[in-house]
Amino acid sequence: MLTQPIYATITNMQNYDVIIIGAGHNGLVCAAYLLKAGYSVLLLEKRSVPGGAATTEECLPKEAPGFKFNLCAIDHEFIHLGPVVQELELEKYGLKYLECDPVVFCPHPDGKYFLGHKSVEKTCAEIAKYSERDAQKYAEYTDYWLRVINGISPMFNAPPNSIIDIAGNFNLNKFKDVLAVAGSVNKTMDFVRNMLSSAEDILNEWFDSEFLKAPLARLAAEMGVPPSQKNLGIGAMMMAMRHYPGMARPLGGTGALVQALVNLVQSQGGAILTEQQVEKVLIDDNKALGVRVDGGKEYRAKYGVISNIDAQRLFLQMVDKNDVDAVEPNLWSRLERRIINNNETILKIDLALDEPLIFAHHQHQDEYLIGSILIADSMAHIEEAHSKCMIGEIPDVDPSMYVVMPSALDPSLAPSGKHTLWIEFFAPYQIKGAEGIGLNGTGWTDELKHKVADRVIEKMADYVPNLKKSIIARRVESPAELGERLGAYKGNYYHIDMTLEQMVFFRPLPELANYKTPIEGLFLTGAGTHPGGSISGMPGRNCARVFLHSQQPVVQTLKDARNTIMGMMSSVQGIGNRE
Ligand SMILES: Cc1cc2nc3c(=O)[nH]c(=O)nc-3n(C[C@H](O)[C@H](O)[C@H](O)COP(=O)(O)OP(=O)(O)OC[C@H]3O[C@@H](n4cnc5c(N)ncnc54)[C@H](O)[C@@H]3O)c2cc1C
Repeated sequence: MLTQPIYATITNMQNYDVIIIGAGHNGLVCAAYLLKAGYSVLLLEKRSVPGGAATTEECLPKEAPGFKFNLCAIDHEFIHLGPVVQELELEKYGLKYLECDPVVFCPHPDGKYFLGHKSVEKTCAEIAKYSERDAQKYAEYTDYWLRVINGISPMFNAPPNSIIDIAGNFNLNKFKDVLAVAGSVNKTMDFVRNMLSSAEDILNEWFDSEFLKAPLARLAAEMGVPPSQKNLGIGAMMMAMRHYPGMARPLGGTGALVQALVNLVQSQGGAILTEQQVEKVLIDDNKALGVRVDGGKEYRAKYGVISNIDAQRLFLQMVDKNDVDAVEPNLWSRLERRIINNNETILKIDLALDEPLIFAHHQHQDEYLIGSILIADSMAHIEEAHSKCMIGEIPDVDPSMYVVMPSALDPSLAPSGKHTLWIEFFAPYQIKGAEGIGLNGTGWTDELKHKVADRVIEKMADYVPNLKKSIIARRVESPAELGERLGAYKGNYYHIDMTLEQMVFFRPLPELANYKTPIEGLFLTGAGTHPGGSISGMPGRNCARVFLHSQQPVVQTLKDARNTIMGMMSSVQGIGNRE
């Protein structure tokens, strides 16, 4: 992605209105909105490239030159539920999305397979090859979850405490979908019950076939918990999102989204400094004045400091306890003990391939390679893959995994005729019984990560017999290394867990849930804030709105109210598409 270092000339630190800690995609989105509103912004990023968990890098330059790898995020869905791409006109800055269709392929050990297309009808036709009943149920199931998604998405695109903002995001279609899901007492009770259930319960209620339930459970577990986790029935919507708004990837890899944001930020006069690890937030008299980076250099901010890293890291690592105690005596211990990070994270494998995957036992078709490839043999397989991580065991006896061959959709990612392979294997951060060993005492050593990677590749080869002979080079990143690279506690790429008690008004804690903190001028954005992790840009956009509101409450409220009224008027006129 970014082969050039990023330079910015800083002549006078006092000229920056806002400093953002971390240049993940949410920090960059936030910066873009503030720059457009006329504020000067400096982003300080600890790595040598911006993007956080959204980079594309040529990380095997010697062994596999010309192969570009998405080190973390690859499939973009949530960002298409919000207005960030359009509002920031990111296409003008070089972003081009390639839509995936088919969206999912999941080969089953008995020779059946699930092939999910963007079209619900085509997907039902695939399911009907094996089960007429499940095909029919799939259409009803998807319709229900699409209505849920449409009905709740206005909340994603607004600060949780802003009723005006949330109301402004509704239109007639969204109201209709809310009514369809919760328009009577019984429907509401049923909806609440779904939310309190587990994805496993919901899938068992709707479907009979394992070849269908397993991939849906696998996608639900992307929330970072096993499918049996109660109170996370919302995970059942994950496949529906691949039908609407659909799934896409930026041409050139996820890093191309970051590059477009960098282009926009720099074109608006924003500065991004890399290799600047922030160590301290400078606070005086309960007001954030700036930051100090590794090496001692200080940067001052006139109006605010915004953190793209979560509240736990921000406060416990970068703020003096005395400054926190002075404003909220309980906050320190609540940050330490009440925010939940389970033990699950990812062991990431990137392969450079000489030839494409061939699913020899499943009547191979090249279209299988476009979307995500799920190795999910049964619901029990997925359950084991996620529940073992929680207790510190590596689920590698029979690995389940999420695989993508991104160069099938976007050949620019590899030299002509060659391919890249992205493998996500869920693994524990801290290995039970190996405390004190390996990187950061997690138990992860180079030898172990390669042993686990060998098992993962072995399992994949059961489905793709040509895999092993086609590997040119590989990169394996252990959970401990991922945590180091992202700077995230326990390698949590959602910054904090995506469980119900940490969502919306509770993310990360009720007293910090509206992007503000008790320290004046210190704001939070990023995956650790509402609506959470993944590539969405929503936390960045929502935080920018809260910041702007804090600067000009009256003007901003009037603007929001005007937008709300205009939104309602256009909804009365009715808009044809599901949006
Ligand atoms: C392997 C993997 C696969 C994933 N796949 C997908 C996917 O397919 N689709 C999807 O939607 N999501 C996916 N995700 C999740 C998604 O990538 C993240 O939730 C999202 O990128 C978080 O963005 P962010 O901007 O909030 O935070 P981050 O990307 O974590 O950005 C925070 C930034 O702060 C920087 N930083 C940290 N500490 C400091 C410091 N002290 N000083 C200065 N800078 C600092 C970091 O280097 C980083 O650049 C995946 C994540 C992983 C790890």
